[in-house]
Amino acid sequence: MAIKNEYLLDLLERTKKRNPGEPEFIQAVTEVFTSLEPVIEQRPDLVEAGVLERIVEPERQIIFRVPWVDDNGKPHVNRGFRVQFNSAIGPYKGGIRLHPSVNLNIIKFLGFEQTFKISLTTLPMGGGKGGSDFDPKGKSDNEIMNFCQSFMTELYRHICADLDVPAGDIGVGAREVGYMFGQYKRIKNEWVGVLTGKGLTYGGSLARKQATGYGLCYFTNEMLQANGMSFEGKTVLVSGSGNVAIYACEKATEYGAKVVAMSDSNGYIYDKNGIDLDLVKQIKEVERKRIKEYVSVHTDAEYHEGCKGIWTIPCDIALPCATQNEIDGESAAILVKNGCKVVSEGANMPSTPEAIDTYLSNGLLYGHAKAANAGGVATSGLEMSQNSLRLSWSFEEVDQRLHGIMKSIFKACDENSKKYGMPGNYMAGANIAGFIKVAEAMKAQGNV
Ligand code: NDP
Repeated sequence: MAIKNEYLLDLLERTKKRNPGEPEFIQAVTEVFTSLEPVIEQRPDLVEAGVLERIVEPERQIIFRVPWVDDNGKPHVNRGFRVQFNSAIGPYKGGIRLHPSVNLNIIKFLGFEQTFKISLTTLPMGGGKGGSDFDPKGKSDNEIMNFCQSFMTELYRHICADLDVPAGDIGVGAREVGYMFGQYKRIKNEWVGVLTGKGLTYGGSLARKQATGYGLCYFTNEMLQANGMSFEGKTVLVSGSGNVAIYACEKATEYGAKVVAMSDSNGYIYDKNGIDLDLVKQIKEVERKRIKEYVSVHTDAEYHEGCKGIWTIPCDIALPCATQNEIDGESAAILVKNGCKVVSEGANMPSTPEAIDTYLSNGLLYGHAKAANAGGVATSGLEMSQNSLRLSWSFEEVDQRLHGIMKSIFKACDENSKKYGMPGNYMAGANIAGFIKVAEAMKAQGNV
């Protein structure tokens, strides 16, 4: 994947200079630019309107102090972020990540990706992302609540239902969203759908919990069918064991596949008989323990320390659902050598540029994150609609809408890959389709 267009190369250089020490952000920009060459050649009007210069610069970046007190009365300070990246097609929308690796660079890469992903969903929302370097692991419920309340005590100034609507991401599920929502309501004295991923008793949407994982499998199923394949009888690897991974495993299994491995940030489990998902849910969702507990119940399954090893297990389909850059060139080469035919991304940017090159040069079906994991934010959009309407749709209704959205996303990727001369390159199709809509809206709204 090499960029040849001089304008794009020059803009990439300027973006690197302006954002030093931000490798993931630059990686995300570079990857989009590699897909945009044919668009730039056909649409000089977008270049003249300065759309690309503006699209790589967030509209607003907010950094703030988050003080909180642990159960022993000891004070701590974390750093909070909210990047409001692009509001051309609607209010900023994007999750909050709580993980020690969070910094401005990570939040910017996620916000940039989010802008194009949301555009693909066809829903009227913009791109944003937030988070903190707070580590939720090992913290008590009370400490989590203290942190979330402190985080929202600053964040509430910058968000509202028509401006910026955060959601969950790594380390933020219904519990954390609940604590943040409660604090927002208390400070603002208003009940609005300012966060999505809420609990079902207070404005959350049915099927939101399942949406990213299910959506990933809906997208992957479309991609498989378009190429004369299906999930039926396939061996699948799913990395991670969080929200996305669990529901990807569930839907892939429903489609007739056998998921044989899952992981967390310490290691991975391999169960040749197929993952017992009820047990994984009990360990991760209820007990909040480590994935290695699995082998104390299923003694014939294996546990291995380290995350990378999961990609050495022979499979037909790999669904990375943990974190960025979890598949590097070496792991991608092993996947190919072992016969893997499909990689479809539940996590954001889980494949390094070298890994993507390996998929494309070996003819793998590659479902890029922007398209393949868009089901989560799409269903967040549906949660916002239900909150505005003061209505709750049934699980079936939300799931059906999600399914329809994922089918139309695949169609957009497929059609754009063909239209711009890269048939079968669904990453290029996703980048192009996502970009064109945002770029048109930015051009129409003038140089703002
Ligand atoms: P969770 O916090 O629920 O789960 C994350 C999982 O990934 C956990 O198993 C975690 O292990 C593992 N993980 C996290 N960081 C690392 C790391 N550095 N190395 C190895 N494993 C790691 O998060 P989600 O499931 O919500 O998110 C997973 C991915 O999906 C992220 O990339 C996120 O941005 C993306 N995504 C999420 C959406 C959503 O709706 N939730 C929507 C679209 C994309 P451990 O428990 O040990 O930390």
